[in-house]
Amino acid sequence: MHVLELIHRENSPFISVEIIPPKRGGRIQQVYDAVESLLPYRPRYINITSHAAEVIWQEQADGVFRRRVKRRSPGTFGLCAVIKYKYHIEPVPHLLCHGFTREETEDALIELRYLGVENVLALQGEEKYAKPPRPDRTVNHYAVELVEQISAMNQGRYLDEITDAEPTNFCIGVAAYPEKHYQSPNLSFDLLNLKRKQDAGASYAITQMFFDNRFYYEFLHRARETGIHIPIIPGIKILTKREHIYSLPRAFHITLPEPLVSAVMAAKDDKEVLEIGLEWAYHQAVELLAHGVKNLHFYTMLYTRPLIRLMEKLKLD
Ligand code: FAD
Repeated sequence: MHVLELIHRENSPFISVEIIPPKRGGRIQQVYDAVESLLPYRPRYINITSHAAEVIWQEQADGVFRRRVKRRSPGTFGLCAVIKYKYHIEPVPHLLCHGFTREETEDALIELRYLGVENVLALQGEEKYAKPPRPDRTVNHYAVELVEQISAMNQGRYLDEITDAEPTNFCIGVAAYPEKHYQSPNLSFDLLNLKRKQDAGASYAITQMFFDNRFYYEFLHRARETGIHIPIIPGIKILTKREHIYSLPRAFHITLPEPLVSAVMAAKDDKEVLEIGLEWAYHQAVELLAHGVKNLHFYTMLYTRPLIRLMEKLKLD
């Protein structure tokens, strides 16, 4: 079922989650454990991140560094099959511009269609390694181009003209940034980009994490003023360790509210930080629900224990 349909169909609040495939060589049991731990809380869909190859420099015994290009966490599509057929939950694989040619993306979409996957999140991707494409290959630079490619396939238009090509049927989600994307000169520019993604065929957006709901409310307001009418689903992260107050802004270009940072700095250890993070996320969630939000989206990686504790407190269906 399409995510958009799920959102419209549900009358009461519900959750969705994002997981990350284990690192290369990691245990699939990690994914089973994470998903199974969340089953009582009925996540309606599960996003699975995708990771382009990156350059890794490895020091050899002779002190010389060797360059290797490697994907650290492959397996997004395999996990889609697990989530769909083992747990009967809608999987939403992330598809990226960076690191993939349009030809590879077309093949990936065919693969997903054969797997029965009907939802994708179209993203530019982290800029880790720009694989130089062969002269006969093409690339998407921005998410809007990826959305256009998927929308074209939904209308039966593949990269090469194919007579009677069967259309795909993907519901396309995209990313949104309440605190603006770090490369955007300002929020208006970024909102116009979101509008372009909507106009190209995106059915909904999921936000980057934010820790101050006012960013989300203001963003929603400005989005509606810009002519963006698609659902904008808030993404929430539970802060679980002191190190997060430095690593989250660095990695995701977000800000943390002063009272949260002060409380974390005053905590005696990470056990106490987890309690602070849980309390913060609880109040964020309660307030968002009171504001009329139906779908709360949680960034869990594969560490679900904090979310379980939050769900026990939130008491959603
Ligand atoms: P875009 O919408 O293409 O925007 C990127 C920037 O370019 C914006 O600043 C935009 O305003 C600007 N821009 C757009 N068009 C133009 C133009 N024509 N000229 C100049 N500037 C332009 N990354 C991963 O690698 N893997 C994942 O699985 C993943 N999952 C994510 C999930 C969510 C919910 C979110 C919010 C992010 C995720 N990311 C992931 C991170 C994402 O790939 C990065 O934030 C990336 O830098 C931007 O992606 P985007 O799709 O928003 O890009």
